[in-house]
Amino acid sequence: MRRAHGRIPRRAIPLLLGLLALLAPHQLQAAWLSDSRELMGTRVSVELWSEDAAAGQRAIDEVMAEIQRLDEMMNPWNPASELARINREAARGAVVTSPEIIEVIERALFYSRLSQGAFDISFASVGQHYDYRAGTAPDDAAVARDRTNIDYRAILLDVDERSIAYRKPGLQVDLGGIAKGFAVDRGIALLRTHGIQSAVISAGGDSRILGDLGDRPRTIGIRHPRRQDEFVVLIPLADTAISTSGDYERFFMKDGVRFHHILDPGTGRSAQGVQSASVLAAHAIDSDALSTTVFVLGVAAGLELVNRLPGVDAIIIDGDGKLHYSADLLLNTTP
Ligand code: ADP
Ligand code: MG
Repeated sequence: MRRAHGRIPRRAIPLLLGLLALLAPHQLQAAWLSDSRELMGTRVSVELWSEDAAAGQRAIDEVMAEIQRLDEMMNPWNPASELARINREAARGAVVTSPEIIEVIERALFYSRLSQGAFDISFASVGQHYDYRAGTAPDDAAVARDRTNIDYRAILLDVDERSIAYRKPGLQVDLGGIAKGFAVDRGIALLRTHGIQSAVISAGGDSRILGDLGDRPRTIGIRHPRRQDEFVVLIPLADTAISTSGDYERFFMKDGVRFHHILDPGTGRSAQGVQSASVLAAHAIDSDALSTTVFVLGVAAGLELVNRLPGVDAIIIDGDGKLHYSADLLLNTTP
């Protein structure tokens, strides 16, 4: 690079730039662009403002390709994925893996310790036996047997060696409660390298907002947990991540019981007492893990945890449909 540059006479540079400007279209097309795809088992959407529509579309394509790469790496149901390989091999000895998986699992274990196991990626040791589409759940005996394998302390991470080992043979990991947030953060970081200053990336219930709409914040809605296409709260947001975990996302009803996809590691059954938990944080990896965590902890312990974390807020809808806000949100909304 440097040598090639050296060959151009210094005086010629303004002339060359002038020629380039003549060749380039006089006005770049500035535009709001949006795109969405089925990835990570949900709908991933990217919306952004770009001074140059073609460059903006390239940025979106790059984000989608990156999220697809992460999906292929972290989907435990795809036997060819890196996570599936870990689940097969890590009980026999340390498995050297990708920096992305190490980073996500390290953060997951942080939230496990913080919540004393309410958030636990090894929930899958039991969770793998639920099939929400088919409407089937493991029986009590199976849950009792496999529940001992839900234990984040049996996941051994060696960050320097970039390796992971399971201390229990039946332990299985699923990153469904944190990987989408990680992917959204990755997407936002990519958009920044493209000079994008205003964007939203969403992966299902996990969103991160970069910048604002120029003169005003964006409005993000929290869904009504029991009425489709209705919102309970609309909040103006800029430069933040927000994630919602709801018992209405993936579930089936059996004998009047709602079997949904957020499991209480203590029981191996769907966590009770909350219909939806939304968490605001700077990064989507944190809002994602924490929305699942708060859902499992319930209103009292969930708010207590969130109120201890600087820069983190929560809006919880309890089992009766009543709203609960973390302390900072109450301060900001009380006249
Ligand atoms: P989604 O956007 O898929 O609804 P959530 O953030 O609400 O995601 O998390 C739900 C997902 O988290 C489940 O589908 C499952 O993969 C995973 N999960 C369920 N229970 C737990 C738990 N106790 N700890 C960590 N992850 C969990
Ligand atoms: Mg989550």
